[in-house]
Amino acid sequence: MLNSAWIQRQLRLHEEFKRAIGPRLEQQRTQAAFGSDLVHQVQAERARFDAFAGEQDIKKALGELDPSKAVYRERDEAEVAFERNRWAKTALVRCSHDLGLGRVRLQWFDDLNAQDPHDYRWHLGRYGAPPWKTWFHDGPCLGLYSAYQPDVIHIKTSDDPRQLVFVVAHEARHAWQDRQYGMPGVRTAAHFGGNHESEKRWSEEDADAYAQGVLTEFGHN
Ligand SMILES: [Zn+2]
Repeated sequence: MLNSAWIQRQLRLHEEFKRAIGPRLEQQRTQAAFGSDLVHQVQAERARFDAFAGEQDIKKALGELDPSKAVYRERDEAEVAFERNRWAKTALVRCSHDLGLGRVRLQWFDDLNAQDPHDYRWHLGRYGAPPWKTWFHDGPCLGLYSAYQPDVIHIKTSDDPRQLVFVVAHEARHAWQDRQYGMPGVRTAAHFGGNHESEKRWSEEDADAYAQGVLTEFGHN
């Protein structure tokens, strides 16, 4: 996925974005709610969200775009194929019951596509900021969980049911870790003597092990 053609395409899309939203940037700045909650969210996953809140953000993101960067956009459930929804939701229901998470919902996302700049322009021309968020991520990302949005699991679309089940279970386990041991950072101090690397390693290994178990149970390993 991360080849030079892909990067060139992303850069072209960014230029389009910039042209499309340039005249409206001032207005965008006043709409601070757009994307601001997610700006906090990704810090927990070593990632950075840039939600087109202003020109500076875009320039920064463009300047920093390199092969390890990915650009994502939220997708509405209606944009996701029925089968994908079914796999992911089945996994989520099973995991949230198993882990006692309570009500948790899925938020789909995917790579930016050629249609997105047009959508973006359309929304800006009518209502201002689009109802979905776009962000940059430090490297490919299949799913996200954040303590700042404890009732949401972000998942990237995929045709592979094993990936969907695994990623939902992995992120659900992060939700469980937060409920059980507190947020990253707080957890570091309380359980890992301030050693963030140990905490990170533990939380990823624990989430992978749990997800592998769920995958086995689903019969798709
Ligand atoms: Zn993880």
